[in-house]
This record gives sequence, structure tokens and C-alpha cells, in this order.
Amino acid sequence: MFNTGIGQHILKNPLIVNAIIEKAALRPTDVVLEVGPGTGNMTVKLLEKAKKVVACELDCRLVAELQKRVQCTPLQNKLQILVGDVLKTDLPFFDVCVANLPYQVNASFPAYDPDFLILISVFLHHSSSSCCFTDRSSGRDNWKLAEMQPSSPRRVLRCAVLMFQREFAMRLVAQPGDKLYCRLSINTQLLARVDHLMKINGDAFQLFNVCNVGRICRSSQVGKNNFRPPPKVESSVVRIEPKNPPPPVNFQEWDGLVRIAFVRKNKTLSAAFKSTAVEQLLEKNYRIHCSLHNMEVPDDFSISKKIESVLQEADFNEKRARSMDIDDFMFITSSANSEKHEPV
Ligand code: SAM
Repeated sequence: MFNTGIGQHILKNPLIVNAIIEKAALRPTDVVLEVGPGTGNMTVKLLEKAKKVVACELDCRLVAELQKRVQCTPLQNKLQILVGDVLKTDLPFFDVCVANLPYQVNASFPAYDPDFLILISVFLHHSSSSCCFTDRSSGRDNWKLAEMQPSSPRRVLRCAVLMFQREFAMRLVAQPGDKLYCRLSINTQLLARVDHLMKINGDAFQLFNVCNVGRICRSSQVGKNNFRPPPKVESSVVRIEPKNPPPPVNFQEWDGLVRIAFVRKNKTLSAAFKSTAVEQLLEKNYRIHCSLHNMEVPDDFSISKKIESVLQEADFNEKRARSMDIDDFMFITSSANSEKHEPV
């Protein structure tokens, strides 16, 4: 009955469902988005707590089952079902998102894409009355962090409590020096606070309490058949809370720097910036920047000298992306900016 090709692994353990909902700390005034409600095990509990649940489901058979489940109950009027692919659906505003996301690695689903941060950014900083995950006119490849300047959001998503494949969740929360620390980690953490809340295996789960000394195991539970059918991979639940207001960085510059540094995260920054292709790109960008800001580029301008001086000044020549934190990258962008030539 379930189509694992579109990630249908239904959560069967009510203790896990309750723990996820507890972590979302819902208010009676909240509008909640649930991605992939399936048969509605989580949806009915969300409906009991929230003002409204918007549930977006791809599979019409499961939509029918969910509708039957709430029919003629007081919950029916609080549920809005959107049938279709969440990535192609215009979503109304929501305060909180709760989802046991489809697991399959599917190129069109950005949760498993290195550019997941784009989803997070759009998702966390949508400030208008509606938001959409994809730019359907031009295709999602055109989404770039640089294009989504999350400026002065009016009403921001409060938090998202999401279940992912374990390794993906660990990349989201990875810290400098961790094996899984990557561009996804730093970009997500630039925009949001991310906490690892729960580990789930086929037949057990562990809940964590997050406090200022780190993660503490609160309880371990053993229970059979957490999912039906059981997935082949382990899962984790994370809570993502957007920073509001967003950090004061120029996202175009940030994205350019972090992309270059993390192409080979074990290389020193001076080596990462030494490639001809990188230098050409930076020089082109720099010249565009100067022309936009009415600044003269000296005849003897050398991009390699400029890179060297910025890195040296910050004492970052020998640093490697794998051990650099958000403040380190912010320091470099601000040093590069303070070196700009005077306006003509
Ligand atoms: N929420 C349910 C639960 O926890 O038991 C089901 C979760 S199951 C892991 C993922 C659900 O997402 C399935 O119901 C699947 O049909 C749905 N789904 C898969 N791809 C989707 C998409 N692109 N848009 C919306 N729903 C999708």
C-alpha cells in the first residue's frame, strides 16, 4: 500500500509523534504547515493543538484517507489540504512547520540537496503573505543564497521541527572541526539556530534535552516498529529556529566566500584562493563592485595581491574552512570591504 519511492514510511509510534509535537511548542493561535501528512498520525495531534493545519500531500490515496479520518469531527474545519508536490505549491503563511520529510534522495527535493539552505532561507525568512519553494518560471537551479536577501522580515516562521535522514541532520548541526562540517552547516547556522532533538532507529529512539552545556540524553525508549514500512536508514529530528532579525551580512559576498572555501575544506585558505579560475572570478566580481560603487580600480591592481593582503591582515592564510566558524568568515568579508578603494 505504501510507496517507498516517494518516501512513504509512516510514523507508527505515538510516543515519537507526541515528542515531536511537544518540541514544536505550538500555540492555540498557530497556523502549522505539515509536509507529507500521510495517513494523518501527526496531523490529528497537530489539529488538536493549533488554530489551523495546512497539510500538503502528493499522494491522492493518502489525502482521501486523511479526509476520512477527520470527516464529521471538530477537527475537520481546521484542516486545509493542498494536494500536490510541496515544491511546486504556493503555500499560505504558517507560523510553524512540522514534518516527517520524505527520505528518498530525490534530486528535485532540496532537503537532500547541498543547496538545502536555499529552502531554509526562503522558508525561514518568507515575510510576505505567501511563499513558494521553487521559482517555477525559471527552475530551482536559479535559486541562489545571494538572491534571497532576507531583509526586514515582517512575520517570520517561528520554528520548524523536521525529521531527516540521520547523516543529513548531523550535517545541519555539525560544528567546526566535526567530520560532517560543511557549507550546509555554516549557512544553516548563519541563518538559524539548529538543535538535534531526537535519534530514531527502527526499534528505538532517544530524546535529547538541549541546554547551554550541549546535548543531554533525556530518555531512551525501546519500541518495535517505529515506522511502517521501516526505512533502511536511521533518522533524526532537528529543530530549526530562524534568527530574527537575520544577521547583518551581505549574502552575495558571504555565499561567494563560503563556496570557494568549502570546495576543498581541508585546504588552507591561501591555497583555496590561488586557483586561476577563482582569481578570475573574484577579479571580475571586484571590478563589477567598483563600477557599481563608482570606485576607480588602479592600473596596477592585482587580485592575487589583494587576496593575500586581506588574508594576511586577518591572519587567515593558514586557516582551513573545516575549522572556521561564522565569526571567522564574517571577519574576512568585513576585512575585504574595509580594503576597498576610495570613490572617484
Ligand atoms: N507524516 C506522515 C507520518 O509521519 O507518518 C508521513 C510521512 S512520510 C515519511 C512522507 C510523506 O510525504 C508521504 O505521505 C508522501 O506521500 C509525502 N510526500 C512525498 N513527496 C512529497 C512531495 N513532494 N510533496 C508533498 N508530499 C510528499
